[in-house]
Amino acid sequence: MNAEIIAVGSELLLGQITNTNARFISGQLSELGINVYYHTVVGDNVDRLIKAIEVAETRADLIIFSGGLGPTKDDLTKETIAQHLGTVLEIDNFAMQSIEEFFMLQNRIMTDNNRKQALVLKDCEVLINRHGMAPGMLLEKNNRIYMLLPGPPKELEPMFQFEAKPKLAARVNDGAQIMSHVLRFYGIGEAELEVKVQDLLDNQTNPTIAPLASDGEVTLRITAKAYSLDQAEQLIAGTKDEIIRRVGQFMYGVNDDSLSSKTAEILIENDLTIAAAESLTAGLFQSELAENPGISQSLIGGVVTYTEQAKREQLGIPADLLENYGVVSSQCAVAMASKVKEKFGTDIGIGLTGAAGPEGHDNQPAGTVWIAVVIGDNEPRTYQLHLTGQRNTNRLRAVKRTFAFIIQ
Ligand code: ATP
Ligand code: MG
Repeated sequence: MNAEIIAVGSELLLGQITNTNARFISGQLSELGINVYYHTVVGDNVDRLIKAIEVAETRADLIIFSGGLGPTKDDLTKETIAQHLGTVLEIDNFAMQSIEEFFMLQNRIMTDNNRKQALVLKDCEVLINRHGMAPGMLLEKNNRIYMLLPGPPKELEPMFQFEAKPKLAARVNDGAQIMSHVLRFYGIGEAELEVKVQDLLDNQTNPTIAPLASDGEVTLRITAKAYSLDQAEQLIAGTKDEIIRRVGQFMYGVNDDSLSSKTAEILIENDLTIAAAESLTAGLFQSELAENPGISQSLIGGVVTYTEQAKREQLGIPADLLENYGVVSSQCAVAMASKVKEKFGTDIGIGLTGAAGPEGHDNQPAGTVWIAVVIGDNEPRTYQLHLTGQRNTNRLRAVKRTFAFIIQ
C-alpha cells in the first residue's frame, strides 16, 4: 500500500504555519510499513482541492487529508470530497451528542455551523475526536482509502494514533503486528555507521533497518512484521544483537532515551550528585538535565560564569591561570569543574568553556570548546571539540557531548 498526504489550508501556503501534520503522519505510516510517496499542500479552495484529489487518485491507495473539518466557511474538505466522490454527508448521532454535551458543559449556545461538524461522509467509519469537536473519517471507495483528519495537531495526533492507526494496521498487514525498536548512537557519524552495517542494510527484509541522523546523533530503527509480539521480538533481537556486536560501543540508549535522560538515569541510580559551571552554554547543560523527573536528588546547582570577571569572582579561578592559558583552555575548564564541585559539595563537577561563534575568542577559533569532568578524587578528564555549526547548534552540541562524556 502506498499513501499520499494532502494537507489543506491556505495558511500553510502563506508560510504562516509549518506542515507538521504531514511529518507526523508520515512517521506513523512508516511504522506501519506503508510507503508515503507524495506530500501535497493545497489552499482552502474547492477546485484546487478536487484537482489535488484527482492527481492523488492516480498514484495512491491511501489518501489522507488534514485540515478543513471545522465549522467555518473556509473549512470545506469533507464537502469537497463528498462532491468529488458523488456521495453525501449525514449526521453522525454520536458526534452530534458529543458536540451537544460540549456546549452544555461550557454553557454556550450551539449554532448551526457547529451542528455542521457532526456531518460525516455516508458509510464512513467515524474516528472519534477526544480533543475537539470535528470527527475524523475513514471511507473505503473504489479500492481506495480516504481518511479525513482535523487540522489542529493536538486533535490529529491522538486521533491518528488511537483511532486511525489500528484500523490501518488491520488492513495492511492481514493481522500481522508491526513492532519497532530504535537504537541510539552518539560519537559515530551516519556514514561511518552505515558502512559497518552495510550488508545488513542491503539484505534487510524482515526486520527492516532504517538509519536516521539528526542533531549529531544517529539512530537505527529496526521494524519487524510478525504474527505475534513474541515472534516480532525475536526477529528484532537477532538483528539488534548483531548491530550491537559491531557498533555497540557507540550505542547509548534505545527508543525514547536521550543523552540527557540516560545521564539522569545513571546519576540517580548511582546516587551521584552533580554541579556545573557553564560559560558558552550559559545554563543549557543544567536546563537540559532538569528536564528529567527525579533529577533534584542529583542536580544540586551550578553557576553561569560568562565573563572572566565572573569566573574569578564567582568561582575563585586564579587570575594568572586565565592570563597564562586563556578562558578557552583545558586548564580553565578543569578549574571551573573543580571549583563548582567544591562550591556545591557534589560528587561530580562539570566545566564548559569555549567560543560558540560566530567570532573566535581568546585566540581560539569559533567552535573550540573545552569540557571538563571531575568525578570524586579522580584525575580530571577533558575533551576538546572543534564544532563547525552556528552559534546555538554549537552550544547544544557541547551539552550533548558533555552528557556522552559522563555516560561513557
Ligand atoms: P478547526 O476546527 O480548528 O477549524 P480544521 O480541521 O478546520 O480545525 P484547519 O482550520 O484547516 O483545521 O486548521 C486549524 C488549525 O490547525 C490551523 O490554524 C493550524 O494551527 C493547525 N493546522 C492545520 N493544518 C496543519 C498542518 N498541516 N500542520 C500543522 N498544523 C496544522
Ligand atoms: Mg478550520
